[in-house]
Amino acid sequence: MTLLQLNHVQRTYNANSTHPVTALKDISFTVDRGEYVAIMGESGAGKSTLLNIIATLEQPTGGQAILNSQDLGALTKDDAARYRREHLGFIFQHFNLLDSLSNRDNVYLPLVLAKTDPAVMAQRLQPLMKRLRIAQIIDRFPSEISGGQQQRVAIARALIAQPDLLLADEPTGALDSNTSAEILDLFDDVNENGQTILMVTHSAAAASHAKRTLFIKDGRIYHELFRGDLTMKK
Ligand code: ADP
Ligand code: ADP
Repeated sequence: MTLLQLNHVQRTYNANSTHPVTALKDISFTVDRGEYVAIMGESGAGKSTLLNIIATLEQPTGGQAILNSQDLGALTKDDAARYRREHLGFIFQHFNLLDSLSNRDNVYLPLVLAKTDPAVMAQRLQPLMKRLRIAQIIDRFPSEISGGQQQRVAIARALIAQPDLLLADEPTGALDSNTSAEILDLFDDVNENGQTILMVTHSAAAASHAKRTLFIKDGRIYHELFRGDLTMKK
């Protein structure tokens, strides 16, 4: 079943200036529910623009991006913010935890914003703490734990509202290789539990965990590899 569908998505910046930049020229692909897809490409290829469109932070200037039957280009700013909260989970390179909140309150934040019953919040946290091995650090603060631990807390925050789609932007970019491998194993586990994942990465090691990798260059997808293809083997 299709979760995300991009049809000839185009994004031009500064269309009315003398120097318009077309960051995305013609992007079409679909992601099925339960899939794990990576997007790779060099700097300037259009990855951030693509991710921002799927994240409802930017709108296409041509074509359509549809998530769960919702045309993302048709959302008003307020609707987009609510849509993001209810349907998407985000993981970033630099974790983006709030230093003023305990790890527990960081994880709860999406549910607090959605005015969720505190009993439900505690109930949701329980299995995540176990799966992500953060029970021992949950009442400490982000500044008191390692990068790998911060990313595990960030994964819990991204998953606690049970999003349709988990969007990860260079999730291992700030971690050493051992810690990266640990985080990628957790992503595998999260995906095996049914979570759909879309990850942007520079790292071939990271992309090799995805079931499918799309290569983007100059605003177009020019290649697609499936896990198990010879060239993806480490
Ligand atoms: P990547 O994430 O792969 O590095 P980006 O999506 O950030 O690529 O950028 C793709 C192209 O679009 C680049 O040429 C970049 O300079 C341009 N671009 C990105 N954002 C803007 C913007 N807000 N205004 C003008 N040009 C932009
Ligand atoms: P970078 O890769 O540039 O170091 P991050 O990966 O931490 O930055 O964040 C990527 C982008 O996501 C940022 O430019 C920011 O605008 C956006 N962003 C940060 N926090 C959120 C959030 N909670 N929800 C949506 N977008 C966010």
